[in-house]
Amino acid sequence: MLRGVAPLALTLLLAGCQRGEPGSKPGSTPTPEAAASPERVNGDEQPAGASAFTAPPLPERPAAIDIHVHLVGGHVDELLATLDRHRISAAAVLASPHLDPDHPPPPGGDKFAGWRAANERLLEQTQAHRDRLLPFVTVEPAQVEAAELEGWLDRGACGVKLYIGHHSLHPRPLDDPGYAATFALLEQRAVPVLLHVNTVRFEDELDALLRAYPKLEVVCPHLCGSRTDLDRLERILAKHPSLRVDTSHGEGRPGVDGFTNLERERERLRALIGAEPQRFLYGSDLVTLISSGSQAEFSLGRWRGQVEANLGLLAAERFEFLRDGAGPAMLTTGEYRGLALEGEVLEGVLAGNARIWLGGCLGP
Ligand SMILES: [Zn+2]
Repeated sequence: MLRGVAPLALTLLLAGCQRGEPGSKPGSTPTPEAAASPERVNGDEQPAGASAFTAPPLPERPAAIDIHVHLVGGHVDELLATLDRHRISAAAVLASPHLDPDHPPPPGGDKFAGWRAANERLLEQTQAHRDRLLPFVTVEPAQVEAAELEGWLDRGACGVKLYIGHHSLHPRPLDDPGYAATFALLEQRAVPVLLHVNTVRFEDELDALLRAYPKLEVVCPHLCGSRTDLDRLERILAKHPSLRVDTSHGEGRPGVDGFTNLERERERLRALIGAEPQRFLYGSDLVTLISSGSQAEFSLGRWRGQVEANLGLLAAERFEFLRDGAGPAMLTTGEYRGLALEGEVLEGVLAGNARIWLGGCLGP
Protein backbone atom coordinates (compact mmCIF):
# COMPACT_ATOMS: atom_id res chain seq x y z
CA MET A 1 0.00 0.00 0.00
CA LEU A 2 2.71 2.46 0.91
CA ARG A 3 4.94 3.76 -1.79
CA GLY A 4 8.64 3.95 -1.37
CA VAL A 5 9.24 7.62 -0.84
CA ALA A 6 11.10 9.46 1.80
CA PRO A 7 9.31 10.03 5.07
CA LEU A 8 7.57 13.32 5.18
CA ALA A 9 6.82 14.15 8.79
CA LEU A 10 4.40 16.86 8.19
CA THR A 11 3.47 20.33 7.64
CA LEU A 12 1.29 20.45 10.70
CA LEU A 13 2.03 24.10 10.92
CA LEU A 14 0.04 24.74 7.79
CA ALA A 15 -2.99 22.62 8.49
CA GLY A 16 -6.24 24.36 7.68
CA CYS A 17 -9.12 25.32 9.83
CA GLN A 18 -8.59 22.22 11.92
CA ARG A 19 -5.17 23.42 12.86
CA GLY A 20 -4.63 22.48 16.44
CA GLU A 21 -7.84 20.51 16.44
CA PRO A 22 -7.10 16.88 15.84
CA GLY A 23 -10.08 14.67 15.21
CA SER A 24 -9.97 14.69 18.71
CA LYS A 25 -11.20 13.93 22.09
CA PRO A 26 -11.45 16.58 24.76
CA GLY A 27 -8.18 16.83 26.55
CA SER A 28 -6.14 15.22 23.81
CA THR A 29 -2.83 16.78 22.98
CA PRO A 30 -3.25 19.62 20.53
CA THR A 31 -1.41 19.47 17.28
CA PRO A 32 1.81 21.36 17.88
CA GLU A 33 1.78 24.41 15.72
CA ALA A 34 5.01 25.06 13.94
CA ALA A 35 6.22 21.67 15.06
CA ALA A 36 7.82 20.99 11.73
CA SER A 37 8.50 22.88 8.58
CA PRO A 38 9.39 21.58 5.16
CA GLU A 39 12.87 22.92 5.66
CA ARG A 40 13.44 21.06 8.87
CA VAL A 41 11.93 17.65 8.37
CA ASN A 42 14.32 15.13 9.84
CA GLY A 43 17.05 17.68 9.43
CA ASP A 44 16.85 17.37 5.67
CA GLU A 45 16.44 20.09 3.17
CA GLN A 46 13.36 19.81 1.01
CA PRO A 47 12.04 16.30 1.47
CA ALA A 48 12.48 13.92 -1.41
CA GLY A 49 8.80 13.07 -1.16
CA ALA A 50 7.78 16.57 -2.17
CA SER A 51 7.32 15.56 -5.77
CA ALA A 52 4.99 12.74 -4.81
CA PHE A 53 2.04 15.15 -4.83
CA THR A 54 2.19 15.77 -8.52
CA ALA A 55 -0.07 13.02 -9.71
CA PRO A 56 -2.05 14.08 -12.77
CA PRO A 57 -5.65 15.13 -12.30
CA LEU A 58 -8.22 12.40 -12.29
CA PRO A 59 -9.54 11.27 -15.62
CA GLU A 60 -13.06 12.10 -16.70
CA ARG A 61 -15.21 13.41 -13.94
CA PRO A 62 -17.69 16.26 -13.70
CA ALA A 63 -16.34 19.76 -13.09
CA ALA A 64 -16.34 20.59 -9.40
CA ILE A 65 -17.09 23.49 -7.09
CA ASP A 66 -14.81 23.71 -4.06
CA ILE A 67 -16.76 25.18 -1.15
CA HIS A 68 -13.85 25.38 1.30
CA VAL A 69 -10.70 27.35 0.42
CA HIS A 70 -8.89 29.66 2.85
CA LEU A 71 -7.58 32.52 0.73
CA VAL A 72 -4.53 33.98 2.46
CA GLY A 73 -1.39 35.64 1.23
CA GLY A 74 -3.27 37.27 -1.64
CA HIS A 75 -2.46 34.31 -3.92
CA VAL A 76 -5.39 34.79 -6.26
CA ASP A 77 -3.57 34.01 -9.51
CA GLU A 78 -2.06 30.81 -8.16
CA LEU A 79 -5.44 29.76 -6.85
CA LEU A 80 -7.15 30.36 -10.19
CA ALA A 81 -4.45 28.33 -11.94
CA THR A 82 -4.96 25.51 -9.46
CA LEU A 83 -8.71 25.55 -9.99
CA ASP A 84 -8.14 25.36 -13.75
CA ARG A 85 -5.74 22.48 -13.39
CA HIS A 86 -8.23 20.42 -11.44
CA ARG A 87 -11.31 21.40 -13.43
CA ILE A 88 -12.87 23.29 -10.56
CA SER A 89 -15.20 25.91 -11.93
CA ALA A 90 -15.60 28.00 -8.78
CA ALA A 91 -14.55 28.12 -5.14
CA ALA A 92 -15.94 29.58 -1.96
CA VAL A 93 -12.98 31.52 -0.57
CA LEU A 94 -13.01 32.15 3.15
CA ALA A 95 -11.73 35.10 5.13
CA SER A 96 -9.14 33.60 7.48
CA PRO A 97 -7.73 36.26 9.78
CA HIS A 98 -5.96 33.74 12.04
CA LEU A 99 -4.23 31.89 9.18
CA ASP A 100 -2.66 34.75 7.23
CA PRO A 101 1.05 35.23 7.92
CA ASP A 102 1.03 38.47 5.92
CA HIS A 103 -1.38 39.96 8.40
CA PRO A 104 -0.58 38.63 11.87
CA PRO A 105 -2.98 39.48 14.66
CA PRO A 106 -2.33 42.61 16.68
CA PRO A 107 -0.67 42.17 20.07
CA GLY A 108 -3.01 41.07 22.82
CA GLY A 109 -3.63 37.40 22.32
CA ASP A 110 -6.84 37.55 20.28
CA LYS A 111 -5.73 35.78 17.10
CA PHE A 112 -9.08 36.48 15.48
CA ALA A 113 -8.99 40.22 16.12
CA GLY A 114 -8.29 41.13 12.49
CA TRP A 115 -11.53 39.74 11.08
CA ARG A 116 -12.94 43.02 9.81
CA ALA A 117 -9.77 43.87 7.90
CA ALA A 118 -9.62 40.32 6.54
CA ASN A 119 -13.11 40.75 5.11
CA GLU A 120 -12.15 43.98 3.37
CA ARG A 121 -9.08 42.34 1.85
CA LEU A 122 -11.09 39.36 0.68
CA LEU A 123 -13.69 41.50 -1.06
CA GLU A 124 -10.97 43.50 -2.75
CA GLN A 125 -8.92 40.47 -3.82
CA THR A 126 -11.93 38.71 -5.33
CA GLN A 127 -13.41 41.80 -6.95
CA ALA A 128 -12.27 40.98 -10.48
CA HIS A 129 -13.10 37.25 -10.24
CA ARG A 130 -16.54 37.03 -8.69
CA ASP A 131 -17.65 34.56 -11.34
CA ARG A 132 -15.25 32.02 -9.84
CA LEU A 133 -14.14 33.18 -6.40
CA LEU A 134 -17.11 33.51 -4.08
CA PRO A 135 -16.13 35.46 -0.99
CA PHE A 136 -17.22 34.24 2.42
CA VAL A 137 -16.61 36.89 5.04
CA THR A 138 -16.14 35.94 8.65
CA VAL A 139 -17.52 37.58 11.76
CA GLU A 140 -17.38 37.45 15.51
CA PRO A 141 -21.16 37.08 15.72
CA ALA A 142 -21.47 38.68 19.13
CA GLN A 143 -19.62 41.77 17.93
CA VAL A 144 -20.73 42.34 14.36
CA GLU A 145 -23.37 44.97 13.75
CA ALA A 146 -26.27 44.05 11.50
CA ALA A 147 -25.60 46.99 9.20
CA GLU A 148 -21.96 46.00 8.91
CA LEU A 149 -22.77 42.43 7.93
CA GLU A 150 -25.46 43.53 5.52
CA GLY A 151 -22.97 45.93 4.00
CA TRP A 152 -20.55 43.12 3.18
CA LEU A 153 -23.35 40.99 1.75
CA ASP A 154 -24.58 43.88 -0.36
CA ARG A 155 -21.03 44.45 -1.64
CA GLY A 156 -20.76 40.91 -2.96
CA ALA A 157 -20.03 38.60 -0.07
CA CYS A 158 -21.66 35.31 -0.97
CA GLY A 159 -21.68 33.75 2.45
CA VAL A 160 -20.27 33.73 5.95
CA LYS A 161 -17.64 31.45 7.40
CA LEU A 162 -17.85 30.95 11.17
CA TYR A 163 -14.99 29.55 13.24
CA ILE A 164 -16.80 29.78 16.58
CA GLY A 165 -17.19 26.01 16.83
CA HIS A 166 -13.43 25.48 16.69
CA HIS A 167 -12.33 24.71 20.20
CA SER A 168 -9.64 27.39 20.19
CA LEU A 169 -11.98 30.06 18.78
CA HIS A 170 -14.96 29.33 21.00
CA PRO A 171 -15.50 32.22 23.41
CA ARG A 172 -19.07 31.22 24.28
CA PRO A 173 -21.57 28.45 23.49
CA LEU A 174 -22.81 28.29 19.91
CA ASP A 175 -26.36 28.89 21.10
CA ASP A 176 -25.40 31.82 23.35
CA PRO A 177 -27.96 34.65 23.34
CA GLY A 178 -25.17 37.03 22.35
CA TYR A 179 -25.16 35.41 18.90
CA ALA A 180 -28.93 35.54 18.43
CA ALA A 181 -29.21 38.70 16.36
CA THR A 182 -26.56 37.56 13.90
CA PHE A 183 -28.02 34.09 13.42
CA ALA A 184 -31.48 35.57 13.02
CA LEU A 185 -30.19 37.82 10.25
CA LEU A 186 -28.33 34.98 8.52
CA GLU A 187 -31.43 32.83 8.65
CA GLN A 188 -33.74 35.59 7.46
CA ARG A 189 -31.52 36.43 4.47
CA ALA A 190 -30.85 32.73 3.71
CA VAL A 191 -27.11 33.39 3.68
CA PRO A 192 -24.90 30.36 3.02
CA VAL A 193 -23.03 29.69 6.28
CA LEU A 194 -19.99 27.43 6.58
CA LEU A 195 -19.91 26.66 10.29
CA HIS A 196 -16.94 24.75 11.66
CA VAL A 197 -18.00 22.65 14.64
CA ASN A 198 -15.90 20.36 16.75
CA THR A 199 -18.72 17.95 17.42
CA VAL A 200 -16.71 15.93 19.92
CA ARG A 201 -17.01 18.91 22.19
CA PHE A 202 -19.95 20.95 20.96
CA GLU A 203 -22.54 18.62 19.46
CA ASP A 204 -25.16 19.67 22.03
CA GLU A 205 -24.57 23.34 21.26
CA LEU A 206 -24.96 22.66 17.55
CA ASP A 207 -28.22 20.87 18.27
CA ALA A 208 -29.53 23.83 20.22
CA LEU A 209 -28.43 26.31 17.57
CA LEU A 210 -30.07 24.42 14.71
CA ARG A 211 -33.24 23.95 16.72
CA ALA A 212 -33.40 27.70 17.28
CA TYR A 213 -32.68 28.58 13.62
CA PRO A 214 -34.03 25.66 11.60
CA LYS A 215 -33.82 27.50 8.30
CA LEU A 216 -30.16 28.45 8.54
CA GLU A 217 -28.39 27.45 5.32
CA VAL A 218 -25.57 25.66 7.12
CA VAL A 219 -22.82 23.44 5.79
CA CYS A 220 -20.79 21.83 8.56
CA PRO A 221 -17.25 21.03 7.37
CA HIS A 222 -15.26 17.83 7.64
CA LEU A 223 -18.37 15.63 7.73
CA CYS A 224 -19.42 17.88 10.59
CA GLY A 225 -16.26 17.13 12.50
CA SER A 226 -17.08 13.42 12.37
CA ARG A 227 -14.71 11.90 9.83
CA THR A 228 -13.35 9.57 12.45
CA ASP A 229 -16.73 8.70 13.96
CA LEU A 230 -19.50 7.91 11.50
CA ASP A 231 -21.84 7.01 14.36
CA ARG A 232 -21.74 10.67 15.29
CA LEU A 233 -22.17 11.80 11.70
CA GLU A 234 -25.18 9.56 11.25
CA ARG A 235 -26.72 10.79 14.48
CA ILE A 236 -26.22 14.46 13.56
CA LEU A 237 -27.65 13.99 10.07
CA ALA A 238 -30.68 12.24 11.54
CA LYS A 239 -31.30 15.00 14.08
CA HIS A 240 -31.03 17.83 11.54
CA PRO A 241 -32.58 16.86 8.22
CA SER A 242 -31.71 20.12 6.48
CA LEU A 243 -28.06 20.21 7.56
CA ARG A 244 -25.41 19.74 4.89
CA VAL A 245 -21.79 18.70 5.41
CA ASP A 246 -18.60 19.07 3.42
CA THR A 247 -16.15 16.27 2.78
CA SER A 248 -12.95 18.31 3.13
CA HIS A 249 -9.71 17.09 4.64
CA GLY A 250 -6.94 19.54 5.45
CA GLU A 251 -3.26 18.93 5.77
CA GLY A 252 -1.44 16.93 8.37
CA ARG A 253 -2.81 14.70 11.07
CA PRO A 254 -6.55 15.53 10.85
CA GLY A 255 -6.55 14.73 7.13
CA VAL A 256 -4.62 11.52 7.60
CA ASP A 257 -6.88 10.35 10.40
CA GLY A 258 -9.98 11.17 8.36
CA PHE A 259 -8.89 9.46 5.17
CA THR A 260 -7.68 6.44 7.13
CA ASN A 261 -10.98 5.99 8.92
CA LEU A 262 -13.09 6.61 5.83
CA GLU A 263 -11.15 3.95 3.96
CA ARG A 264 -12.05 1.55 6.77
CA GLU A 265 -15.66 2.74 6.71
CA ARG A 266 -15.88 3.00 2.93
CA GLU A 267 -19.06 0.98 2.43
CA ARG A 268 -20.85 2.71 5.27
CA LEU A 269 -20.04 6.19 3.98
CA ARG A 270 -21.00 5.21 0.43
CA ALA A 271 -24.35 4.10 1.81
CA LEU A 272 -24.84 7.32 3.79
CA ILE A 273 -24.09 9.43 0.73
CA GLY A 274 -26.17 7.22 -1.52
CA ALA A 275 -29.17 7.56 0.79
CA GLU A 276 -29.04 11.39 0.89
CA PRO A 277 -26.56 12.60 -1.71
CA GLN A 278 -27.91 16.16 -1.64
CA ARG A 279 -26.41 16.68 1.83
CA PHE A 280 -22.74 16.19 0.92
CA LEU A 281 -20.54 18.85 -0.75
CA TYR A 282 -16.99 18.72 -2.01
CA GLY A 283 -14.36 20.93 -0.36
CA SER A 284 -10.58 20.82 -0.15
CA ASP A 285 -9.84 22.95 2.95
CA LEU A 286 -6.91 24.36 0.98
CA VAL A 287 -5.00 27.13 2.75
CA THR A 288 -3.28 29.17 0.05
CA LEU A 289 0.05 29.58 1.79
CA ILE A 290 3.21 29.69 -0.31
CA SER A 291 6.61 29.39 1.29
CA SER A 292 9.23 31.84 0.17
CA GLY A 293 12.08 31.31 -2.24
CA SER A 294 13.00 27.83 -3.32
CA GLN A 295 10.18 26.34 -1.25
CA ALA A 296 7.47 27.96 -3.37
CA GLU A 297 7.16 25.09 -5.81
CA PHE A 298 6.99 22.67 -2.93
CA SER A 299 4.03 24.64 -1.57
CA LEU A 300 2.20 24.56 -4.88
CA GLY A 301 2.81 20.84 -5.17
CA ARG A 302 1.26 20.43 -1.76
CA TRP A 303 -1.79 22.43 -2.87
CA ARG A 304 -2.22 20.12 -5.85
CA GLY A 305 -1.89 17.06 -3.67
CA GLN A 306 -4.50 18.25 -1.22
CA VAL A 307 -7.02 19.33 -3.84
CA GLU A 308 -6.60 16.13 -5.80
CA ALA A 309 -6.80 13.89 -2.74
CA ASN A 310 -10.09 15.46 -1.70
CA LEU A 311 -11.44 14.97 -5.23
CA GLY A 312 -10.06 11.45 -5.24
CA LEU A 313 -11.85 10.57 -2.03
CA LEU A 314 -15.14 11.12 -3.86
CA ALA A 315 -14.43 10.26 -7.47
CA ALA A 316 -11.57 7.77 -7.64
CA GLU A 317 -10.96 4.14 -6.85
CA ARG A 318 -7.56 5.13 -5.48
CA PHE A 319 -5.92 8.40 -4.52
CA GLU A 320 -2.72 9.56 -2.87
CA PHE A 321 -2.19 11.43 0.35
CA LEU A 322 0.05 11.18 3.34
CA ARG A 323 -0.56 8.25 5.58
CA ASP A 324 0.98 6.66 8.59
CA GLY A 325 4.36 5.16 7.90
CA ALA A 326 6.75 2.95 9.72
CA GLY A 327 7.58 4.96 12.81
CA PRO A 328 5.81 7.23 15.25
CA ALA A 329 5.02 10.64 13.80
CA MET A 330 6.17 9.47 10.37
CA LEU A 331 3.87 10.25 7.51
CA THR A 332 4.58 8.83 4.09
CA THR A 333 2.87 9.38 0.79
CA GLY A 334 0.65 6.41 0.14
CA GLU A 335 -2.53 5.27 -1.51
CA TYR A 336 -6.03 5.21 -0.12
CA ARG A 337 -9.11 3.62 -1.54
CA GLY A 338 -11.60 6.26 -2.70
CA LEU A 339 -15.39 6.12 -2.59
CA ALA A 340 -15.62 6.04 -6.41
CA LEU A 341 -19.03 7.70 -6.49
CA GLU A 342 -20.64 7.78 -9.91
CA GLY A 343 -23.24 9.41 -12.06
CA GLU A 344 -25.72 11.84 -10.58
CA VAL A 345 -24.53 11.23 -7.05
CA LEU A 346 -20.99 12.22 -7.96
CA GLU A 347 -22.10 15.25 -9.94
CA GLY A 348 -24.25 16.42 -7.06
CA VAL A 349 -21.55 16.06 -4.44
CA LEU A 350 -18.91 17.67 -6.62
CA ALA A 351 -20.97 20.60 -7.83
CA GLY A 352 -24.76 20.34 -8.03
CA ASN A 353 -25.38 20.53 -4.29
CA ALA A 354 -23.04 23.51 -4.02
CA ARG A 355 -24.94 25.28 -6.80
CA ILE A 356 -28.14 24.90 -4.81
CA TRP A 357 -26.56 26.01 -1.54
CA LEU A 358 -24.77 28.98 -3.08
CA GLY A 359 -27.93 30.09 -4.81
CA GLY A 360 -27.62 33.41 -6.56
CA CYS A 361 -23.88 33.80 -5.90
CA LEU A 362 -22.97 31.81 -9.00
CA GLY A 363 -25.02 33.80 -11.45
CA PRO A 364 -27.12 32.31 -14.24
ZN1 LIG B 1 -10.96 25.08 6.72
